[in-house]
This record gives sequence, C-alpha cells and structure tokens, in this order.
Amino acid sequence: MQKNYIAGEWTASEHSIDNLNPSDTRDIVGQFAQASRSDLDRALDAAKSAQKIWAKSGIEQRYNALMAIGNEMMARSAELGELLSREEGKPLAEGKGEVYRAGQFFTYYAAETLRQIGDTADSVRPDIEIDVRREAVGVVAIVSPWNFPTATASWKVAPALAFGNAVIWKPANVTPASAVALTEIIAKQDLPAGLFQLVMGGGSEIGQALVESPEVNAVSFTGSVEVGRTVAAAAVQNFTKVQLEMGSKNALAVMDDADLDLAVNLALGGAFGGSGQKCTASSRLVVHSAVHDAFVEKLAAATQAMVVGHALEAGTQLGPVVSEQQLQSNLDYVQLGLSEGAELITGGQRLEMATPGYYMQPGLFIGTNNSMRINREEMFAPLAAVIKVDSFEEALAVVNDTEFGLTSGIVTQSLARATHFRRNAKTGCVMVNLPTAGTDYHVPFGGRGVSSYGTREQGKYAEEFYTTVKTSYISSGMPL
Ligand code: NDP
Repeated sequence: MQKNYIAGEWTASEHSIDNLNPSDTRDIVGQFAQASRSDLDRALDAAKSAQKIWAKSGIEQRYNALMAIGNEMMARSAELGELLSREEGKPLAEGKGEVYRAGQFFTYYAAETLRQIGDTADSVRPDIEIDVRREAVGVVAIVSPWNFPTATASWKVAPALAFGNAVIWKPANVTPASAVALTEIIAKQDLPAGLFQLVMGGGSEIGQALVESPEVNAVSFTGSVEVGRTVAAAAVQNFTKVQLEMGSKNALAVMDDADLDLAVNLALGGAFGGSGQKCTASSRLVVHSAVHDAFVEKLAAATQAMVVGHALEAGTQLGPVVSEQQLQSNLDYVQLGLSEGAELITGGQRLEMATPGYYMQPGLFIGTNNSMRINREEMFAPLAAVIKVDSFEEALAVVNDTEFGLTSGIVTQSLARATHFRRNAKTGCVMVNLPTAGTDYHVPFGGRGVSSYGTREQGKYAEEFYTTVKTSYISSGMPL
C-alpha cells in the first residue's frame, strides 16, 4: 500500500483504493491509503508546529530545498512522466513535459524566496518610519484535480513553501501515484516534520473535512465549479482565505484573414490535446463564414487522422480519457449535441482497442449555436463545436457570451483586430495566433466569471495569496 505522509512519517491506513491505468484497466498502478479523520487531525497539529519553525527559517534554506526539489523533478521527468501518463492517460510526451514544467515551478519559486523585499515609507506624522512586509499566511490546504496532477499541485505547493507556509495536500483520488512521487521528492529535503503533508482520500470526505477546518488559514483549490462552490462556502465559515480555479468554456475565433493551416493546427491541439481534459481547452471554435467550409473540411480531416491509443505507446496523439465515468459523461454530451440539432461530422464514439480502456474518437460538431448546452457547459471531453459567424464583431460577442472566462484566442493577420480582441475579450488569458491552452510559469494565470475566484496564481502574483501584509510604525524617540 502506498502511504500518506503525515508529520514527517509515511503512514498506512485501514482503507485503500486501487488505481487503474485508463489505457489498460487490467494494469493496477497501485493501492493507495485513504486518510482517516484522525490522520487529518494529526496532520493539522503537525502543520501548525512545523510552520512556526519554517517561518523563521532563513531564506537560503528555503531556496536550497525548493531548488533541489525542482532539479530532481526535471532530472527525473522521463521516469515520473511515464508514471503520470500511466495513471492519467495523457500521451508520454505530455506526461514528461508536465513533470518537467512542474519542476520549473519549484526552481522559479526557489529564486522568489530571495526576492522577498518589502516597502518602506515615511509616516505622515514627523519622525516616524513605516515598514511594510509580507508574512506567511500559515497552514495552507491544497486541493488539486487529476488532469494536471503534478503541475497544478506544484504551482500551489512551491509558492506556499517559498513564502513560509506549511502545506496539507489532498490530491485527486484518481491520480494518487503522481502525488506520492512528488511527496517522495519533497520528503527527501530537511524540512520540519509536518511542513509538507499528503492526505489522500475522497474529496467529499477528507477533502471536505480539510477545507472546513478552522486550523487551516488558506485554501487553494483547482477543480470543478460545483465543488469550488462547496469549498468556498466551507472556507468562508471560518473566514479562511480562499482561491479557486475552476472550469471554462474557452473559444478560439478564426477570422476570414486567418492562415487556415495555422488555425486548424491551433484548433486541433487546443480542442483535443490531453483528450480535451484541460480547463484551457478550445471547445468552441467560432469561425467566420467566409472561411467556414474550408476550415471545417481541413479540421475534420485532421481530426480523423489523429492517432488514438495507449498513452505509453509511441505515436499516440490522443490517450484514453481518465475514467469510465468521464467517458460516459462525454458520450452523453455527444447525444445531447445531436438532440440539440448539432451535426456530428466525425468521431464522438467509444473505441475498442487492443487493451481495455477508456478510449474515444475525437468528435467535431458543426451547425451549432452558442445557446446549445454543448456550447455552454464544460464537457472536459475530446469534443469541439464550430459556431459560424459573419463578422469580427459577432465573433467577439460569441466568445464573450459565457459564464466562464479563463482563456480565449483569435487567429488573424490583422493587428487591429488582434489588438481590439485582446483588449475586449472578457477572459483572464488571451492568445493571439496561439492555442487557448498552454501558459507560462512566470506570469499570472487565472480567469474571470465562474472560472476563478480570489487572487491570481503563478508568477509573482502568487505572493498575494500565500502571504499577508504587515504594516509597522516605528519611532526611535529621536528626531530623524
Ligand atoms: P473536482 O472538482 O471533482 O475535484 C477537484 C478536487 O476536489 C479533487 O481533489 C477532489 O477529490 C476534491 N473534492 C471533491 N469534492 C470535494 C469537497 N466536497 N471538498 C473538498 N474537496 C473536494 O474536479 P476533478 O478533479 O474531477 O477535475 C476536473 C474538473 O476540474 C473539470 O471540471 C475542470 O473544469 C476543472 N479544472 C479546472 C482547472 C483550472 O485551472 N481552472 C484546471 C483543471 C481542472 P476527489 O478526486 O477525491 O473527488
């Protein structure tokens, strides 16, 4: 049994779950402990004590620990990426790339530990100086999803530790192996016992208990809107600081002056990369009528040509979806689209492969409008829907007509349109001639509407969440 990591010790549990490989459900990745309520209580106690020690630690100690974690992840990205792909189902190159990127979050925040410089000011009263500095928030609960099991956790854990906090991490229960692998690397560092802890278990049980705890000072969550609401409601009961990154319904606008081959490539990668299981996926393709037919013809051909297969097999472009439940939900959305009057021009069906798994042919709808539920709800599936529009203005209006607002994109050769789009898209991230998915680690990431709540993640902006500001007034008693 793979254990939880509590108070500096690997801790077994009475209960465990099997973790299956979605590319081959006969392959059991491992058995993973499910934390009990008393495990969580021990973790909360240990975190509190450890955080007090860490907050007083030198910034070089933090730098060294984070740098070592990041370097090891990058050095072992091939091995750990394979484990990630085996349990999550994304093609090997994407698994390796994710682990490497996760390592970069640690090395980036290692450097940030040395840049913790505050502000000073003169008081409006004579002979008084003011010092404004940031302090750690305390014990941070991190609740993460399965689709980027290592990267999402890392972009939360790294700044939390860098800014002097303790972390209790509840990973998604379908991707525990990646969580244990990351924890093993962190556990090698000389950190106070309880500074970083792993509690695996069901979201509605141990996850809920964690975010409800008054011992937690901040909660950073990534997942669905539905669970995000529950998490926020629990946190606010204790006035706990909370940050939520949730789903989206991103649109890629393809204009009549677009380079069509580029547009098709962007749509293909944006819609189907990671089997569409990305919060940044381009599931709405808003296409100008002047290029609609040519675009659709090329995209349909490219979609059909995508190689669906076992995540660890060379040549696979699209792995399985993560679970049977996710696959059933995807197939339900295909039926919903058809019942709403959309035309499915390719894919959308379950695939039987050499190994038993959750395989699905990527599907493309045309003849859709933005009122259809397939264009309003996040499907998290290898499915995309084309919406035909007659002008740039109409495209922008459709892109913005959603309750979500994480990313949006435009494919155009016009600087004027690109600029207007960038300034008027109601999303947290905007892409020009780039896929809606794919962001950097040194700049803020987050959305508007129901996509995000609270301060931004990543880059220097993460400081706002993982620290609290203290303003000190100092009089020496002598004239300055
Ligand atoms: P969920 O919201 O179901 O779960 C996210 C995490 O929350 C998991 O660790 C889950 O545990 C846990 N959880 C579930 N219920 C509770 C609860 N009551 N209290 C505390 N924690 C709980 O999302 P998924 O993991 O299934 O991920 C897919 C969803 O995440 C998609 O809908 C997508 O939109 C969104 N997402 C958003 C991203 C963004 O950055 N905006 C990035 C990635 C995904 P368990 O696994 O045990 O259920």
